[in-house]
Amino acid sequence: MTEILDLSHVRLGDRPLVVCDVDDVVLHFAAPFQDFLRGEGHELLPRSFRLTGNIVSTETQIALEPTEVRRLIEAFFEAQENWQIPTDLVVQTLETLSKDADVVFLTAMPPRYREHRRRLLDRIGLTFPMIASEEPKGPIMQRLHAGRPLPTVFIDDMAHNLHSVREHLAECLLLHMMPDSPLHLLAPKPAEGIARATDWAHAAELIRGHIRREAA
Ligand SMILES: [Mg+2]
Repeated sequence: MTEILDLSHVRLGDRPLVVCDVDDVVLHFAAPFQDFLRGEGHELLPRSFRLTGNIVSTETQIALEPTEVRRLIEAFFEAQENWQIPTDLVVQTLETLSKDADVVFLTAMPPRYREHRRRLLDRIGLTFPMIASEEPKGPIMQRLHAGRPLPTVFIDDMAHNLHSVREHLAECLLLHMMPDSPLHLLAPKPAEGIARATDWAHAAELIRGHIRREAA
């Protein structure tokens, strides 16, 4: 049986809710992960939007086995505090938004690296509540928001997460934000009607517009 995800540490006020993915939205992932791989004697070839099959030994160019890929991803999450840095303007933007909205991080990382990520986010000054879960994001957003008559926003670099939230929270503003990494350029595109925020300044503008419209 899967346990019911504990959301009790997330206390929401009577105000808009802004939920952000972490990897490649709040913290860089694609670029530092590739640096990490190089240090291990491997490289990521952007042949398709997946890690398995595209991480090869630098020396032999032979693709690593799926179990080895998994091990490297976990080793990276274990060492994330030495590798991952915040994306441009994220700290100031979320700090400003948090004056009028609750900010929550929803990260699809294995939950056992929660403490590593928490420490890293705290060190950067991003002390907002965080949920680490590999479950689909739509149902989690739905539980969090619980039908309150307040604006919601969800930001992610992955189309499938944006689509999951759209299925469960029709009125939520969905923002697609991603780095222009060779890997991301191969990623499935979000469906029509999902806006792309080019950076955090643009995201803040779109979020403020949504909150204003909902309040009108
Ligand atoms: Mg992400």
